[in-house]
Amino acid sequence: MITNEDSSTPAPEHPRHGSADSGSRQGWAVARDGGRPEGGVCTHLAAVVEPPDPGPREVCEECLALGREWVRLRWCTTCGNVGCCDSSRGQHAYGHHRRTGHPIVISLAPDESWAWCYADEVFLVEA
Ligand SMILES: [Zn+2]
Ligand SMILES: [Zn+2]
Ligand SMILES: [Zn+2]
Repeated sequence: MITNEDSSTPAPEHPRHGSADSGSRQGWAVARDGGRPEGGVCTHLAAVVEPPDPGPREVCEECLALGREWVRLRWCTTCGNVGCCDSSRGQHAYGHHRRTGHPIVISLAPDESWAWCYADEVFLVEA
């Protein structure tokens, strides 16, 4: 049995700037995405503030109203709206972006820890 393991994983670069404002979190940064050209930018990073915890509102209310099921939930960082992901039939998080222009959603799925900017089409990770 032949395993074709690629052991030449490039080490991620961690440029360490002198952190002038220690104590506060750095926030979000554009993640590298192997499927896309490098150098993707998000012009909305400064606007990413975590809205109040959705708590028990971890449902897609638009799907609930339609009696549908969803796959994963996305959480609008602008207003706190919770909508379902693009793999869900309703795609209500995207619909929310289309209606409101709110650019960035955080994944509420427990196995995902990233955000997505619909406007720039880049993944964001906590820096
Ligand atoms: Zn953006
Ligand atoms: Zn939905
Ligand atoms: Zn919103």
